[in-house]
Amino acid sequence: MKYIFITGGVVSSLGKGLTSGALGALLETRNLKVRIQKFDPYLNVDPGTMSPFQHGEVYVLDDGAETDLDLGHYERFTHGHLSRFNNLTSGQIYEHVLQKERRGDYLGKTVQVIPHVTNEIKERMYAAGKDVDVLITEIGGTVGDIEGLPFLEALRQFSLEVGKENVLFIHVTLLPYLKAAGELKTKPSQQSVAKLREIGIQPDILVCRTEKPMTDDMRVKLSMFCNVEQRAVIEERDVEHSIYELPLMLAEEGMDELIVKKLGIDAPESNIEPWRTIVRRLVSPTGGECKVAVVGKYIDLQDAYKSIYESLAHAGVGNDCAVKVLRVDSEDVERLGAEKLLKDVDGILIPGGFGDRGIEGKILAAKYARENNIPYFGICLGMQIAVIEYARDVLGLKGANSTEFNESTPYPVITIMDEQKQIVDKGATMRLGAYECKLAKGTLSYAAYGKEIISERHRHRFEFNNDYRDALVKAGLRIAGINPKRDLVEIVEVSNHPWMVGVQFHPEFQSKPSKPHPLFCAFVGQALKRAKSAKGPQA
Ligand code: GLN
Repeated sequence: MKYIFITGGVVSSLGKGLTSGALGALLETRNLKVRIQKFDPYLNVDPGTMSPFQHGEVYVLDDGAETDLDLGHYERFTHGHLSRFNNLTSGQIYEHVLQKERRGDYLGKTVQVIPHVTNEIKERMYAAGKDVDVLITEIGGTVGDIEGLPFLEALRQFSLEVGKENVLFIHVTLLPYLKAAGELKTKPSQQSVAKLREIGIQPDILVCRTEKPMTDDMRVKLSMFCNVEQRAVIEERDVEHSIYELPLMLAEEGMDELIVKKLGIDAPESNIEPWRTIVRRLVSPTGGECKVAVVGKYIDLQDAYKSIYESLAHAGVGNDCAVKVLRVDSEDVERLGAEKLLKDVDGILIPGGFGDRGIEGKILAAKYARENNIPYFGICLGMQIAVIEYARDVLGLKGANSTEFNESTPYPVITIMDEQKQIVDKGATMRLGAYECKLAKGTLSYAAYGKEIISERHRHRFEFNNDYRDALVKAGLRIAGINPKRDLVEIVEVSNHPWMVGVQFHPEFQSKPSKPHPLFCAFVGQALKRAKSAKGPQA
């Protein structure tokens, strides 16, 4: 077993998660079995209760864990199957330690950060790495953060326990460019490495994030001041087109070779060809272009709909076409009307969401898609929106709504799930994780998946109200997928429309560039078809 630890220095948002993912991908191209996990020093037990403003997207795993969005990168870049044990927070550690203390497990002792908290962290490392060749652990935050200290201390102890030859420390750092001086600066990196060495950690590899190329002089300087071999000072430039260029970039820097050498791993040469194909399709697709609107309320945030944007890019790879994403604020739709904002798009996607802000704008967008035959993909809330719109405008149930947005609606076509009614706690109490869904033959969804039983991840409290099922079906709504055990409606489709599909689950959590999700592919395929027909036969 080999262990790689990834720390970050100088600033947050350096893309440590992406670097970890890309590194995992690169090691997989050498036939190594890799797992990547994240330790987050904050005190929340999980990010499930944080707002997108704080944290970006909450990424859901098969087992129902609500995790950091970096786990999304890990799953997209590698084949490793992740579980709730792969995202550890300080909150979880303290919760566990305090439970043990109350139970009397430490009877007679003083409970302390060292060794009780650090032991807890180490145990998680031992448990997570059992069946893989390399375990990559990313430590959230920046070196120097007070809350990150117990984690770094645990890593130091851990490397001593398993043998230093089995452990590699990679420090991701920033070389800021000073315009006035006209150069990149190495001092912040020197200082952040000094901070690491203070705790007894000497990085083996320095990954330098930079906008501009690094000079040889800088490499020499960084090597000397940070006590890292020159060949282990790696340049990681901002990617030009796509994050999926990153494995190629790191391979060019010789990172995989360096790692296998340093860790003494016997691995075949890397086969990076599949990543080249993906990047080729992303950068210069041959099959044309379509424009898809994502209508949400966090469109200014880079990370709020991360997996959705990624899945659309993957579907571009799948269709060998460019997918231009137009981010549309649902409150703007309320103000300006759908026509003004959506008339040029080839597809409309409404992602998940909570709370009533911007809901009416989303309903207008769904109506616009339905009435104008624009491909529509509703995800979780986006599915509920499609149902509400259909009930109001096709079935004529004025004021139909979800009880999430109007508790006294006369027509609660979306309503709180029975099992949710008694729940008071907010953390980890939604309907979470993977459930089976049975598709009806002859539907768009069945055509996309090409099979009857699928499994998709969920994160919601409300659901399609079966009391309205017959009426909606009579009015032309197709029930394309149900949870076979509980008869919950999981997929709706609008008949008399080229492609209007709403799913109660989150397909975006299972899409990878190497395996684009069938529904995203079908949706983008339809948008592409529309784009081509709009441009006339010669296009
Ligand atoms: N707010 C809705 C619910 O809880 C939808 C959730 C979502 O889109 N993830 O059911």
